[in-house]
Amino acid sequence: MAAGDRDPIEIENADGAGAFVIVCDHASQTVPLDYASLGLAPEALDRHIAWDPGALGVARQMAADLDAPLLWPDVSRLVIDCNRDPAAPDLIVAEGDGLTVPGNSNLDAAERTRRLAAVHAPYHAAIEACLAARRAAGRQTSLIAVHSFTPVWRDRHRPWQIGILFDDDRRLADTLIGALRADPTLTVGVNEPYSPADRVYYTLSRHRAQDALAAVMIEIRNDEIADATAQQQWGSRLATIVRDFAIDGQAAGPAAA
Ligand SMILES: [Zn+2]
Repeated sequence: MAAGDRDPIEIENADGAGAFVIVCDHASQTVPLDYASLGLAPEALDRHIAWDPGALGVARQMAADLDAPLLWPDVSRLVIDCNRDPAAPDLIVAEGDGLTVPGNSNLDAAERTRRLAAVHAPYHAAIEACLAARRAAGRQTSLIAVHSFTPVWRDRHRPWQIGILFDDDRRLADTLIGALRADPTLTVGVNEPYSPADRVYYTLSRHRAQDALAAVMIEIRNDEIADATAQQQWGSRLATIVRDFAIDGQAAGPAAA
């Protein structure tokens, strides 16, 4: 990033005393100025391939309701995807969803390293520092990642309003799935529209590992969270569900169940 660009990592409510830490890997559609929109027309940066529309509004409402720290990189996933392993082939995509990204074509190793150092590494270092501070303070922590997905993918309509994604730890996921399925108007995706097998679970698997934290990835179909009111409603609804999880005392440390 150019010298004039500000620190691209956002940390809100860093000292939040609630039982959760929230991350929003794809919150931003910002491309730093020196990348000249990666050669794309400005409207291309409105598309889902550039960011997760609505996710940040949901994450902010959850952070407010749960008094949780919220961390997000203020850089588009098209510059570098913070929710991918540095070795993943889609860490920096040159083509996808019918879009060719000129600024990502034929990247050399130096440019990949530069983007890793400017965005990916400091983002994950910030999450690590947040978790370390909470560990030192004796605070219990569960991790929540908030994302959004597009209603139609490759001409197929996705039926789920919300998807709950998890790996071998399903404590938080089961809490969410159980509560959401009680609403007959919802079709709840269970490891849909993606799952950790699609390599979309990088941030959570990396940061839950040390203390076997409970973790869950929430994917909301973006037509459900198209405006601020809808984002606040979904955020508060989800916060209400997981708050009970924390009160039950199940959120601390390695689970018995
Ligand atoms: Zn996402």
